[in-house]
Amino acid sequence: MYLKMEEMARKDGLTGIYNRIYFTELFAEASKTAVEDNCCLSVALFDIDKFKNVNDTYGHLAGDMVIKMDASIAEKYAEEHNGFACRYGGEEFLVVFPDYDDKMALEVLEKMHEEIKSTPVNFNGTDISINVCIGLSTYPSLCDNTNILISRADKAMYYGKKSGRGRLVVDNPQVDE
Ligand code: GH3
Ligand code: MG
Ligand code: MG
Repeated sequence: MYLKMEEMARKDGLTGIYNRIYFTELFAEASKTAVEDNCCLSVALFDIDKFKNVNDTYGHLAGDMVIKMDASIAEKYAEEHNGFACRYGGEEFLVVFPDYDDKMALEVLEKMHEEIKSTPVNFNGTDISINVCIGLSTYPSLCDNTNILISRADKAMYYGKKSGRGRLVVDNPQVDE
């Protein structure tokens, strides 16, 4: 009973993937390991494009189903690559790949992006397709401080929003502009 409650406290209620609080613990540990062992650490943050439109057009239940679908895809890719994923906020997710350099992470994320785009959610007979913006940053090649890795991935994601959405953006100095 206690173990079950402990497990529940780590998970997000809607999607069943890790929540932000537990993610923060896992991420602190992964960062420590990367720095101490001189390893790579890749972090991707993604956010559903124009998600408000899904809620407005099909209702919040449909929106919830879309969030669940994206969460399960994020978790699947994380698990397949010895990483971990969480629901970071409403329609925003983080996926971490310890030991993956930017090139390796980019390859995985391209596949994940394709799968998200090509997996519609069926709601009352209507297929709802969405796209996402993904930002990637990697320690130490793109960002030499693990404390700002998530914010670098966020900046890269946001750059994708500004430049047309539906994009996978790798951290670079341009995302600061
Ligand atoms: P952008 O392309 O800039 O990301 O636009 P957006 O519409 O996705 O972003 P915005 O921040 O305007 O809207 C996000 C919406 O996500 C608003 C909020 O109601 C919805 N949302 C957050 N959490 C949930 C949830 O658990 N379920 C549902 N159905 N909607 C949610
Ligand atoms: Mg959004
Ligand atoms: Mg958002």
